[in-house]
Amino acid sequence: MKPSATGLIAARANQLREQGIEVHDFGAGDPVLPNHPILIQAAQEALGSSPYAPTAGLTELREEVAAWMNRRYDSAFKTENVAVTVGGKFGIFAALNLLLEEGDEVIIPAPHWVSYPEMVRQKKAEPIIIQTRWKLTPELLEAHLSPKTRVLILNNACNPTGVLYTKEELEALLKVAEKANLFVISDEVYSEIVYDGASFVSMASFEAHKNRVLIIESCSKNFAMAGWRIGFAIGPENMIEKIIALQSQSTSGAPTISQKVALAALKNADEISSYVRDEMDLRRKAFAAQFAKTFGFEMTIPPSGLYHFMEFKDPEGLLESANVVTVPGEAFGTPGYMRLSFAGTVGDIKKGLEAIRLFLL
Ligand code: PLP
Repeated sequence: MKPSATGLIAARANQLREQGIEVHDFGAGDPVLPNHPILIQAAQEALGSSPYAPTAGLTELREEVAAWMNRRYDSAFKTENVAVTVGGKFGIFAALNLLLEEGDEVIIPAPHWVSYPEMVRQKKAEPIIIQTRWKLTPELLEAHLSPKTRVLILNNACNPTGVLYTKEELEALLKVAEKANLFVISDEVYSEIVYDGASFVSMASFEAHKNRVLIIESCSKNFAMAGWRIGFAIGPENMIEKIIALQSQSTSGAPTISQKVALAALKNADEISSYVRDEMDLRRKAFAAQFAKTFGFEMTIPPSGLYHFMEFKDPEGLLESANVVTVPGEAFGTPGYMRLSFAGTVGDIKKGLEAIRLFLL
């Protein structure tokens, strides 16, 4: 298995730092924020004993997750529809492990999150990467189907572009999925990092398709808890049971203390996600304003997420000659672009963009 591109870039940035070089880091993949005080208190209260949690996750947490989903969307999830996983990442990994056999094909719209293709390949299945600008359409999906297609992975809100799918667009994709008997993994880990009052539509909102959709959620971005490693797989009970069985033979589930902190996050979900969203919105706006000041033209402001995805020929050169860390478009299946995270501090943004301007001179 190839190591993750974002991991390799972070390692290179650390190497430069160790040499005493000032690094301009646009590589962050999570909101760079202190834990909300509610989470700190929950962590303190959780100290003292550390038993295994049930493999499926703490029952109270699974209940809260189902309630959180049902409150936001037109869904009717129960505890049995939820597995707590080690980050959203393990939920995707587990689902692909269970769904795929050698030779199967998986549709992945690009730009795509860095890990999907390699997760598919480790099952000797084939990622079918579809270039989009920037949304998958039913026509594109249909044109790439074959008798071997088993799964569609859709990332909404999308990392790295920030695009959001409408209800009509999702419904049209689900109709094609139904016709072709595809299972859909809907990666929604940025569901709460949506700006300007835009509404986020989840694949969980379609009762008619609930048996073919697995939602991947996470505390990493929505509650700025990446290092606690808590995610959720939410979907049909038979699929959740299989994920739990796989966990019982691999991770044994997520750490108990992290689950207790996640429970506090979900009980206060609106307050904590607002804290994260409001702060990221400030940084998004500061980034866009600084971008316009530095380069003399306005960028397209992403409606969700933590990133600006832009055309750029030489992100590797930018790292090696100007010490600016970005994630090259190749990692997302879209060469000729790079991803800049605005989740760092405002000061970092200003210095980093100036370093890019100087590199381009
Ligand atoms: N999906 C997407 C689109 C992501 O950007 C990430 C993290 O970068 C993940 C899933 C996995 O997140 P985690 O495992 O931290 O929940």
